[in-house]
Amino acid sequence: MGLISVPVDPVPSRTKIDLQLHRPYRTWLGFGRLRCDWCGDRWGDHGCTVRESAARLFLYTATASQRAAALDSGEITTTDLKLHRHARPHSRTPARHRRRKPRPYPTPPNPLAALRLELEAATR
Ligand SMILES: [Zn+2]
Repeated sequence: MGLISVPVDPVPSRTKIDLQLHRPYRTWLGFGRLRCDWCGDRWGDHGCTVRESAARLFLYTATASQRAAALDSGEITTTDLKLHRHARPHSRTPARHRRRKPRPYPTPPNPLAALRLELEAATR
């Protein structure tokens, strides 16, 4: 019973760790451009590439209250909220190498149907 009542966090722990680790800092004693403190990547609108994908995954998986808490603490910014809308920009372009649909599995013979036929034959 105890296992059932434990609330499961839908956000992967790796995502939360990445959001904590990848933070911006200014180079040149605070006068340069923003870079990631953890991987040294250039800091864009959504941070470095690792942070951007982590933020995207967070928005996919987090509950509404988790999202609100992350916004309050500054882990997620308001610009990050626009991420999930453009998650798949090329989804409308047709796949160049579209795979053929796999053929449906042959239906296995139903042993129960065979048994019923046998019983029907026996009762006659
Ligand atoms: Zn980073």
